[in-house]
Amino acid sequence: MSETERTPLIAGNWKMNGSAAMAEALVDAIAAGRSDSAAEVLVIPPFPYIDRLSRRAAKGGLQLGAQDLSVHASGAFTGEVSGPMLVDVGAGYVLVGHSERREMHAESDAVVAAKFEAARAAGLKPVLCVGESRQQREAGETEAVTRAQVEAVVDRCGAGALADAVIAYEPVWAIGTGLVATPEQAQGVHAFLRARVAEHDATIAGRIRILYGGSMKPQNAAELLACEDIDGGLIGGASLSADDFLAVIAAAG
Ligand code: PEP
Repeated sequence: MSETERTPLIAGNWKMNGSAAMAEALVDAIAAGRSDSAAEVLVIPPFPYIDRLSRRAAKGGLQLGAQDLSVHASGAFTGEVSGPMLVDVGAGYVLVGHSERREMHAESDAVVAAKFEAARAAGLKPVLCVGESRQQREAGETEAVTRAQVEAVVDRCGAGALADAVIAYEPVWAIGTGLVATPEQAQGVHAFLRARVAEHDATIAGRIRILYGGSMKPQNAAELLACEDIDGGLIGGASLSADDFLAVIAAAG
């Protein structure tokens, strides 16, 4: 399947930034400025803003996502937010295994797989974030690390579970650092990941969207998005500026 048959997905991960007013203004500006882009656009605000953005996002043709979820559906888990709650307030997607969660909250591949399962059980589309650290890249472990991150999900949920999911390749050394993978580096890992999915299911491999994340911005988006196996972007810093995010959306076509 050629890349043109996969609708590009441009996702903005706001992380723990903003305010209610900023969130509303940003969604309005993105909705107004995306004009006739063919890309699917996803905004991923902090939990407290999802509810208040859901109508605005829907009206503006934007998808809404969350940055994390609990492995549990309900119960005595103080501070956690469950998949069904996210669906309740209008989220359609959820990030699982973002490197900041893996690093700062010690989320193992097994925990990430459990979150992937919980997301699907709630009816959310999981965006599975994978990627190697600088040390792992320098040690030649990029493929082993990213393969294990995908396989943990396949082992727990089955390859069919990837059908309605998204993979985001985010080299940890490129997140929030200003360093960006070259198109060759990124395309190489994306093709590797698609081939790993194809070992399980060629149809899903042809359809699954694999996003690149790691200091994507207007200056580098076009050349990354032109790569055959790069189907969109997961954007952190640059998604907090409507102008920058809209320029990335425009680069996706
Ligand atoms: C991210 O947080 O997923 C990310 C890619 O951040 P940035 O674009 O700022 O590197």
